[in-house]
Order: sequence, then structure tokens, then C-alpha cells
Amino acid sequence: MLDWYAPFNKHFIFPFYYWRNGDKRLARLAEIEASLTLSEENLNALQLKKMQTIVRYAYAHSVYYKKIMNDRHFHPNDLQKLSDIEALPVLTKTLIQNNLNDLISDEYTKDQLVQDASGGSTGEPTIYYKDWDHHNLRRADQIRHDRWSGWDIGKRSALIWGAQRDLKAVRSIREHIISRYIERRWELDAFEMTHEKMNGYTRQLEKIKPSMILGYANALTVYAQHLLDNSPNHTIRPEGIISSAETLTSTGRAIIESAFHCKVLNRYGSREVGLIASECKTQEGLHINADNVYVEILKEEKPVPDGNSGDIVVTDFWNFGMPFIRYKLEDVGHMKLGLCSCGRSLPLMGAVEGRTGDFFIAKNGSMVHGEYFTHLFYGIPEVQKFQMIQETITDVHLKIVETPDAKNRSYLDAVKSKTIEMLGEQTLLTTQFVKHIPPTASGKSLFTISKVKR
Ligand SMILES: [Zn+2]
Repeated sequence: MLDWYAPFNKHFIFPFYYWRNGDKRLARLAEIEASLTLSEENLNALQLKKMQTIVRYAYAHSVYYKKIMNDRHFHPNDLQKLSDIEALPVLTKTLIQNNLNDLISDEYTKDQLVQDASGGSTGEPTIYYKDWDHHNLRRADQIRHDRWSGWDIGKRSALIWGAQRDLKAVRSIREHIISRYIERRWELDAFEMTHEKMNGYTRQLEKIKPSMILGYANALTVYAQHLLDNSPNHTIRPEGIISSAETLTSTGRAIIESAFHCKVLNRYGSREVGLIASECKTQEGLHINADNVYVEILKEEKPVPDGNSGDIVVTDFWNFGMPFIRYKLEDVGHMKLGLCSCGRSLPLMGAVEGRTGDFFIAKNGSMVHGEYFTHLFYGIPEVQKFQMIQETITDVHLKIVETPDAKNRSYLDAVKSKTIEMLGEQTLLTTQFVKHIPPTASGKSLFTISKVKR
């Protein structure tokens, strides 16, 4: 069926809407599309220029960065090549928690910034801020990389996503219109995936006919398996699938590709800095979003040779409201040598090795995404770190590390009731206040662990 609205949206509605709102995402998109063919030398020069800009800005406008640079006798003018950034220390989540006000640029008040919090894969809910330009322009990065799936502006897409805290909330009519008629994006809630709910996805997706489906790796895998088992003759035929937020296993990839008859493009990003790297259809590695972020792989804060695994550390060229310079994501990864055969010159990294988001199993058999529990801790300043472990189908153990000045534990009531709401009335939630939560054997600190097999 011909989607007559797609070209009309792409050439008129979409550009007109964002032009009228003074949003520069399309101009930005044109600019970054041009970087896909830059030579290594020119790309490095571009990165250096952007790095110098953000470092100079951070020095001038952030108390935190000015102090750490002065302490190290480092001046922004010392940044003459990309590796000179190694003179600065790594920014950790704990440092953000302890220096939030000093990190924010003196040119902004908190009210002028977008507040967000990340649970990530670590169980440390960290509050941070982004400026609006950063927020809007990073949409351009997503469009550039989403297009590699076969989707384009104007075409329909679907999201199978749990991280969108507003998925369940009542949306304004305006937001609904933007999502349906301008972005043309349909959102399916991945927090709770029951048999009925997944059948509902199928009915909806057969009607929407999305050109691309983007989702959590685990949610996509579970749903793809459901399709293969229950609706092998479904008519959902996207041009590509984008898997994000969690580790895409080779089994998961095979299940999704066979259920949807198209390629899965693996993506790596974070709420704090946006899109970091993503695959194209040749699947030879993840192209780093190098004109927007600078990625380093470190071991004990020292760079490792290309190809070796280490901690992923990212410098964001865009967030002037609260600069992220050498931010440690608590994910493990590696760089890949050589260029992709697709012809795009953005450098490659391997799939992220350590990252997970397990499903909890409810008493009624439905699967509840681990991210659901992370969200219960968003915006609770008393909690520094937490870990929720589902020991058996009815036993859930919660470990909490509180901040030193935490006095109030009233947040626990909401956490308990929302956990019971999802997992069932029989759920017994025990809470333990601890000083430290040790990482798992693989070195990852996980925020949710389910020991219940589905
Ligand atoms: Zn490629």
C-alpha cells in the first residue's frame, strides 16, 4: 500500500513544523550527513575543534572544571591534539552526584535546563542536566543513524521501549499530534510484556506497517520469539530493526531477524550523552557518532591499545549547559580497527560487552522489564545506589545505599507498592540498608537481577 503521506510529510510538514518552532535539527542533520565521508584526518581535525570548544567553555563557565584544570596546571590552550584530553580526570557518576551544582554552567539556571536522571545499567540514579540546544540537536544524530535501517523522515516507525517515563502518562493532544503526524512514531510499552499485550502489539503493528522498529534488545527478542511461536504468518515487514539500551546477543539477533525478515542494527547510547555508536546494515561494527562525541577505551584510567577491552569513556561535544568531559559510562567495550565496507568513514567500535537489563517474572507469568524498577528510584535524592534481586517468584530483595545526609525513608512505600503492583500481591519485598553494593563477577554493577528463569 502506497504511503502517500510519507513524501508529503518529509518535504513539507516535518520541515515546516520544526522551522516554525525555530528548531535547527534539519540544518544540523544536513551538516552531519556531510561528515559521513570525511577522511580520517579531517574527522580528527573536526573532533579536535569541537573538543577545544567544549573544554574552553567548561573552563570558563563551570566551577568544577575550572578547579580540576587549575589543580592539574592544565589550560584549554594545552589541548593541541585529541589525546591531550588524557590530562584531565575521568568524570564518574559519583563525582556528578557530589558536584552537580559546580558542574552546571554559570550561564544557565537549572530552570533553563532539561533535568534528567539515569539508572543506566548500574543502579546509581544520577541526576544531570542538558541544555535545550543539546536536547533538540541530538535528535539529528538519531535521524542520521535511524536512516541506515531503511527508514527516512516521513515514514512510520514504532518504539518498543520502557525508558520513556511518559509512556504511561496521559499525553497532551499536542504531543499526540506531533508523535503521530509529524514524527510518525508509535510507542508500545515494554515494561510489562504479557501474552495478551504482545498479541496487541501484533495487531497494532500490522495496522501501522512501520518502516522501522526500535526497541530494547531483550524486549525485541521476547516479542520476536512470541511472533515466531504464535503468529508465524504475521504481516509486519519493517525495512530494519534497531536494537538499543541492552546487550544484543547473537541468539537474540537471530530470533529477531527471522521473526521480522530484516536486519537488526545494534545501537549503543546513553541517556546522558545520547547516541554513541550504531551499526549499519553491513554489521561490521558500530559506527561511532564521532562528530558529536569522542570515545575513549580505558583501563584504570589509562588508554588501552585499539582492539583491547576497557571502560567506555565519552566526551560530549554538545552539552554546554552541563559539560560531560571524559564521562565514564560503566560499560565495557573495545575499538575496532579498519573501516566499514559500507563506505561511511565514521570509525568503528565493537558491541558493548557488559550491559544488561533482565526481566523479572510476575506471579501471573508476565515479564516485567528490569528498567521498570530503576525508574522507581528516579528523582529520589536519598538513594545513592540500589540493587533489586528477584530471588524466587515471590521473594524480592532490595539493597539500598543511602546518601550520607538521607533522613527520610518515606520513598520506600511507593517502591513497595509499585513493585507489588507489577509482580503480584504475594510478593514479599525485603529491604536492607548497606554501605556498599559489590559488582558482579563480570565486574558490572547491576541494578536489577532476576534469578527466576522464564
Ligand atoms: Zn558501515
